[in-house]
Amino acid sequence: MQIRPFNDWQILSKIMTISIISVTLITMVILGYFMSLVEQEMIHGKKIGLKNVVDTAYGLFHENTARIQTGEISLEEAKKQIILRMKPMRYSDNNYFWINDLDLKMVMHPIQPELEGRDQSDSKTPDGIYLFREFLHVSQANGSGFVDYMWPKPGEKKSAPKTSYIRLYEPWGWIIGSGMYLDDVHTELNRLRVYVLSGVAVFALLTISLAVFIGTGITRPLKKVIEGLQDIATGKGRAALTKRIAITSLDEIGLLSTEFNRLMESINGLTVFKNVIEEDGTLDEVYQRLGDLFTQQIHIPRCFIFQVISSKDKLELSYPSRFDQEEMMCNPFILDDNTLCKAKRTGHVITSAHFPAICRQFLPQAEELHHCVPVVVGGTPVAVVQFIFQKLEDPDEIKAMETKIFKAEQYLNESLAVIETKRLMSSLKDAALIDPLTGLYNRRYLQEYTEKMVAGVLRRGKAIGLIMCDLDYFKQVNDTHGHNVGDLVLKETARIIVKNLRDADIVIRFGGEEFLVVLLDINEGESLEIAEKIRLSIQQTKFKISDGVIQKTISAGASEFPQDTDTLWSCIKFADVALYRAKEEGRNRCIRFTKDMWTEDQV
Ligand code: GH3
Ligand code: MG
Ligand code: MG
Repeated sequence: MQIRPFNDWQILSKIMTISIISVTLITMVILGYFMSLVEQEMIHGKKIGLKNVVDTAYGLFHENTARIQTGEISLEEAKKQIILRMKPMRYSDNNYFWINDLDLKMVMHPIQPELEGRDQSDSKTPDGIYLFREFLHVSQANGSGFVDYMWPKPGEKKSAPKTSYIRLYEPWGWIIGSGMYLDDVHTELNRLRVYVLSGVAVFALLTISLAVFIGTGITRPLKKVIEGLQDIATGKGRAALTKRIAITSLDEIGLLSTEFNRLMESINGLTVFKNVIEEDGTLDEVYQRLGDLFTQQIHIPRCFIFQVISSKDKLELSYPSRFDQEEMMCNPFILDDNTLCKAKRTGHVITSAHFPAICRQFLPQAEELHHCVPVVVGGTPVAVVQFIFQKLEDPDEIKAMETKIFKAEQYLNESLAVIETKRLMSSLKDAALIDPLTGLYNRRYLQEYTEKMVAGVLRRGKAIGLIMCDLDYFKQVNDTHGHNVGDLVLKETARIIVKNLRDADIVIRFGGEEFLVVLLDINEGESLEIAEKIRLSIQQTKFKISDGVIQKTISAGASEFPQDTDTLWSCIKFADVALYRAKEEGRNRCIRFTKDMWTEDQV
C-alpha cells in the first residue's frame, strides 16, 4: 500500500497523527529523561543519607582520641570502647557499620563476627570486584568515598545493587564503613513508573479525544460546505440552495459556515428573484421590481432606471416610473438624446465615486454621488441603472456601499436574460399603445399607466394638469381638401402640441381630432396657461398643403387633478366639459373648468 504525502491526508488524520506523535514524544521524554533524573536524584539522596550516618559514627573516633590525649583512657581502651559502641549501632533497615584496617583485616563486623581478625583482601563480589581492595583504594585516594557493587540480599541468592560509604581514620589506620542496598530505589521507581504511565495513558486518552472532537468540529462543517457546493455544481436545484449549516462557534469554522450560509442565501435569493421576474408581465414590471429590490431590500438610497429606446435615440425613465422625471438627477435632455448619457454611450460603468463630475449630465449642484451601470444585452446597452448615494467618508461605510452596489449588480446580471425576452415582448406591446398616424400614445396607454402617473405626482405633492383640445370645424378640412390633407393637419397639430410641452408631459390622441394633454407636476393654475400657449401656436401655424396653406384653430378645456376631483378619469371628463363650454362660447379659446359647469345630475 502506498502512503499518500502528508499534505494530501484528511484533516482529521493529520490532527490525530500529530496528537499521537506528541503524546508519544511526551511519554518518551518523561520515561527516558525525567525518570532517569528522578532515579539519579533518589540514589543521590540515599547516598547522602548513608554518608551522613557514617560521618556521624566517625565522630566517635575524635571523641575517644580526645579522651586518650587527656590521659583518661589508653589507646587500647579507646579502640575497645569504639568497637563496643559501634557494634550494636543500627539505622534504617537494620543497617550496620563495620571496621577493617589498612591490611584489609576485618576489625569489627556485627553480623559476621567470624570474619573479625581475618584478611578480606581476596573477598570478591558476585560482579567480580575485590571489595576491600577497592575500599582501601578509595580511602587512600580521598580519605572517604562510595563504592558501588552487587551483593546478595540476606536470605536471597540473587544479588542486588548496593553502595558502601567508607571513611579512613588515619591515626589508627582504621576504615569504617556501612553499606546500603539500592534496590528499593528501583522498586520505588517502578511504582512511580506505573503512576506516570497511568497518568500518560489518561493524558493520551484526553488528548486524542480532544483531537477527535476538534477534528470533527472542523471537518463536519467543512464536509457540509463541500456537499453544498457539490450540490450546486451538479445542479441539484432549489432544494440544495435552502441548505444551511448550523453555526456552533465563532472561530474560522464558524465564519466559514456563516459565509457559506450567506452565499447560499444570496444564490437562493438570486434564483428566487429570477423566477419571480420571469413571471412578471412586462419589462416595466421587471424594472419596477429591480428598482424596489435595490432601494428597499439592498438599501441603496435612490435608484433610477432608464430604458433605451433605440429607434428614437431616446431614454425613457422606467423607475421610479416614466412619470417621475421631476425627480431625476440628470439633465432631462438625456431623455431626448440618449447619446448624452455616458453610461449608455460607452457601455461602461460611470461612477462619480472615484472621479467627481465624470458625467456632465448629472446635476452639478447635487451633493450625492452616482454610479451608473449600463444593462448590456447582446452587446447593446438596453438600459442604464443609476444608483444615487451620499458622499461617504468612513471607509467602513464606503465598503458597505460598495458591497450593496456589487450585490445590486449581481441581481442585474441575473436578470439580463429576462430583460431581453421582456424587451421583445414590450416592443410589441408598445406598438399597441401608440397611434400610428400621429405617433402619439392612444387611450389604451392612458388606461395602462393612470395609476403610476397619479402615484408619482401625489408622492411629490404636485398636480396633474389636463387639457382636452379639439380642432375647430375639422370636418371642413376633410370635406374641402380631402382626407389626406385632414391626416396631414392632424399630424402637424400633434407635432405642434408636443413641441409646446416639456419632455415629461404626455400627449394622447384621445379621439379623431381630439388630443388630451397630461401635464405632470404642474403648480395650480398652470394648465390654462399652457392650453393658451398651444392654442396660440396652432392659430399661428400655416399648414402647407399642395395648393397653398390653411389655418386652423383649436378649442381647449383645462382641469387639474387632484384640485378639481379625486380621480383622474373624472378630471378628464371635467376637461372635456370645459372644452364643450369653449366650443359653445365660439371656439378658438381655452376655458378652465369650474365647479359650476358640472352638477351631480350630469353624472
Ligand atoms: P367642432 O368644431 O365642433 O369640433 O367641429 P368638427 O368638424 O371638428 O367636429 P366633428 O366631430 O363634426 O367632426 C370631426 C371630424 O374629424 C369627423 C371625422 O371625419 C374627422 N376625422 C376623425 N378622425 C380622422 C382621421 O383620422 N383623419 C381625418 N382626415 N379625419 C378624421
Ligand atoms: Mg371632435
Ligand atoms: Mg372638432
